[in-house]
Amino acid sequence: MAVLKIHTNPDPILRTKAKKVTRLDEFVQKLIDNMIETLDVAQGVGLAANQVGVPLRIVVIRLPEDEEVLVLINPEVVEKTGERRVIEGCLSIPGYQAEITRAYSVKVKARDRHGKLIRKKAIDNLLANCMEHEIDHLNGILYTDYLSDTDKLLKVDSNPKE
Ligand SMILES: [Zn+2]
Repeated sequence: MAVLKIHTNPDPILRTKAKKVTRLDEFVQKLIDNMIETLDVAQGVGLAANQVGVPLRIVVIRLPEDEEVLVLINPEVVEKTGERRVIEGCLSIPGYQAEITRAYSVKVKARDRHGKLIRKKAIDNLLANCMEHEIDHLNGILYTDYLSDTDKLLKVDSNPKE
């Protein structure tokens, strides 16, 4: 396994819409392993493949209290309800965080790394906004795009990293 370089804003790869994964081949499996290692070393919560320079629809998430890594291939948000305010940071925008509006609940459909269909529902928790944040990455969207005139980007020493 290898630790990959995390691309930071304003690298154009972060604005690239990632392509669907069509084959779960050796390249993709190795990429997933390397993304998990990169996430661990960066002490992040979530990572999208375009953050490590590969424009494919792959996301890895590990919540602070969880041992298990959630691997989402070709993830789609199938339902969102409500709104809530959350504080987010991003591995591609180091040293900053901001409070933004996300959905209250999020339902996601994806494949796992073996091609099995999975559905994840998250309500009012870190997984909910993390799944939205990472799927946004695959569409070339950064959390800072949601800042309103009154929201402020704050400089921090450490932050929740997605
Ligand atoms: Zn991010």
